[in-house]
Amino acid sequence: DVRVRFCPSPTGLPHVGLIRTVLFNWAYARHNGGKLVFRIEDTDSARDSEESYLQLLAALRWLEIDWDEGVEVGGPHAPYRQSQRHDLYREVLDKLVAAGAVYESYSTAAEIDARNEANGRAKQLGYDNHDRDLTAEQKAAFRAEGREPAWRLRVPDHDLTYVDLIRGEVTFPAGSFPDFVLVRAGGVPLYPFVNPVDDALMGITHVIRGEDLMPSTARQLALYSALVDAGVTTFIPRFAHMPLVLGEVGNKKLSKRDPKADLFLQREKGFIHEGLLNYLSLLGWSIGPDRDVFSLDELVGAFDIVDVNPNPARFDQKKAESINGDHIRMLEPADFAARIVHYLHSAGLVDETPTPAQQEIITASAPLVQERVQLLGEVPAMLGFLFRAEVTYEPDALAGLPANANEVLVASVAAIELVPEAEFTAAAVQEALARALIEGLELKPRVAYGPLRVALSGRRISPPLFESMELLGKAESIRRLAALVD
Ligand code: GLU
Repeated sequence: DVRVRFCPSPTGLPHVGLIRTVLFNWAYARHNGGKLVFRIEDTDSARDSEESYLQLLAALRWLEIDWDEGVEVGGPHAPYRQSQRHDLYREVLDKLVAAGAVYESYSTAAEIDARNEANGRAKQLGYDNHDRDLTAEQKAAFRAEGREPAWRLRVPDHDLTYVDLIRGEVTFPAGSFPDFVLVRAGGVPLYPFVNPVDDALMGITHVIRGEDLMPSTARQLALYSALVDAGVTTFIPRFAHMPLVLGEVGNKKLSKRDPKADLFLQREKGFIHEGLLNYLSLLGWSIGPDRDVFSLDELVGAFDIVDVNPNPARFDQKKAESINGDHIRMLEPADFAARIVHYLHSAGLVDETPTPAQQEIITASAPLVQERVQLLGEVPAMLGFLFRAEVTYEPDALAGLPANANEVLVASVAAIELVPEAEFTAAAVQEALARALIEGLELKPRVAYGPLRVALSGRRISPPLFESMELLGKAESIRRLAALVD
């Protein structure tokens, strides 16, 4: 059975690269009826933070990505935070010691440097495997000096090869890296130790992660064979390394600090989770030629990790927004109306829980903009005029008024005065205005209605004009039209 994991280190803000990683793991688990394990790799107390952990949780909840085992939900391999698993790491180390896979190492960094210099060996090569065969007397002498040993893995002297599910066969030549430290002097287990150990203990079958972690696979393979030999696990997982995500220009990785990478910033701009996940799935994967928009169910139905492309993928904000717009249009109207409340509230237009009067305007006006926006964050600017008593005119909207704006506005007021209050519908307003402006003044619609938009909304672009007037009501529509007359 497929068991995959999402194992972030809780540092910094959730970024889109991380979300693509969990998305592909999640989709792979769901497609195969497998399990997604959510583990927290908080081994670096200097950088890890509870705040970051809580944001990861908030991110996954907003995205509606669920997991089967792990933090918050528990499971047979609890605890799922590495900071709480030290006893388990100690036990595994004991097994590796018993199997002769690791050894005590006393060399300090300064001693290693000095030996390399004396032996004409490049400093960058690091540790020289010097302590592999210390005798019992030598160890005893170090201990007598008060030194404590680190534990190093005895790395095999042959090439290490694995078949990457995305990249094919990968070989790390023998001697590419020295025996490395698993547990520091003093007993602190290090990341290159605990990451594979947890995958082994948790029965992870597929390690799906970013290409940047590929170099660490070499050490992990070496450790894995030792874990198998020591009876900690029976198998080595398969590995799949997803392509890098590049920024919009050049060949640089999308920086975690790029605002476009910031998940919550993108949410504030108005991505809905369906749209964002759809777009992120395209960073390295495709559902088929010429098809960019699909549901999460379709993603799960079609997803296979071997179809992921190894070439770098470029983050394209415009494309992401356009896909988001398509998903916005797929929402049920009531769902859309509910999702814009947050944005209207942030813009100061409605209460956090809208009053009944505000809610009425939201429900009535939402369909006017659902067809027109790519981001929910565009909604307040489009609908704000319905909630504000006073119109704020955008400078370029005023500057763009035609010379006959006064004439148009005066004729419009006269025309809609004649529409009875009880019949003040979009259709009736349109009919009255068309008669007065298009037939009466012989204007083209674009010229005729431009000044009306500015008068009602303060903007050149507004939701459909006649529907907006219906929402504002007769008296308010007239008041606003008249207010723009010089
Ligand atoms: N904790 C690692 C990270 O956040 C994940 C490593 C892995 O997926 O193996 O980069």
